[in-house]
Amino acid sequence: MNHLVSCDQIDRPTLDALIRSADRFERMAGRLNPNEGEGRLLATLFYEPSTRTRLSFEAAQYRLGGQVLSTEAAGQFSSHVKGESLEDTIRVIGSYADAIVLRHPEAGAAARAAAVSPVPVINAGDGDNEHPTQAVLDLYTIHREVGLQDGLTVALSGDVRHSRTIHSLARLLALYKGIELVFAHPENQGLPADVSAALHAAGVAVTHVKTLREAVEGCRPDVLYMTRLQRERHEVGATWREDWREFCLTPELLGRLKNHTAVLHPLPRLSEIPAALDADPRAAYFRQAAYGVPVRMAILAALYRGPHPAVRSLSCVRAAG
Ligand code: ASP
Repeated sequence: MNHLVSCDQIDRPTLDALIRSADRFERMAGRLNPNEGEGRLLATLFYEPSTRTRLSFEAAQYRLGGQVLSTEAAGQFSSHVKGESLEDTIRVIGSYADAIVLRHPEAGAAARAAAVSPVPVINAGDGDNEHPTQAVLDLYTIHREVGLQDGLTVALSGDVRHSRTIHSLARLLALYKGIELVFAHPENQGLPADVSAALHAAGVAVTHVKTLREAVEGCRPDVLYMTRLQRERHEVGATWREDWREFCLTPELLGRLKNHTAVLHPLPRLSEIPAALDADPRAAYFRQAAYGVPVRMAILAALYRGPHPAVRSLSCVRAAG
């Protein structure tokens, strides 16, 4: 694996291999596996807040036996404040670390970084565009909680237009046959055109509905993927609290889901899933967050194993020095 910027780059054999590898790391239950990451330095460069993505990447790197350089508030504490371009920052950090995990508020930032980076760049979320490692983690959660198979019905609810996790997950689900995707979202807040086009090209059955109730009652999904309103990414109208009720799970709606349905959420959750529902066995979102470590171990291990020329040349420079 080289850079991981978009789910477009992940094909079915790669995904299957990542899931098998994550299974192996999960079975190791946190024991260190120093063979995979020993001697590797991972830089985590985050221009946007993060709890799970950054810390699970760092936990994964340490559990692989590697080490971490971290800038958790790069927008405030890196030379970005002095006007340095993202490209220059990446060139420099790429000369210190073996790989860079980047989160940035601008769509396309990861691709810009990858274009100049001497080491692999992993997109940890670029604006409202994509979040590919979250999508691998979401598919791993489906594998563990429901069973990953052709023909699943997946309902995706909430801020479909701006939720990068929905965009990446939809692209990965399109790798399976007979998948049906049901998007529940406010009027005019549907999928961006590029994601719609990708689903259309893959022949995925797509339905759009205006309420979570329609998705739950009309489609009886195997997986319900909830998201929050991305208020930092777009203006919301004065009635948003009222409107958002249509995309909040209630005990009554949860009761209408099938017994085997898994409720996922990339977190942080706000009012769309009340804490009172957490004890239901179908509420899988905290288990999903925990799967982040073995999944990111699998992603980093694949990257370190891969024949990335920059990593190879960097090791040569070190060896020669
Ligand atoms: N944590 C996820 C993300 O970074 C989901 C969210 O923030 O709503 O995209």
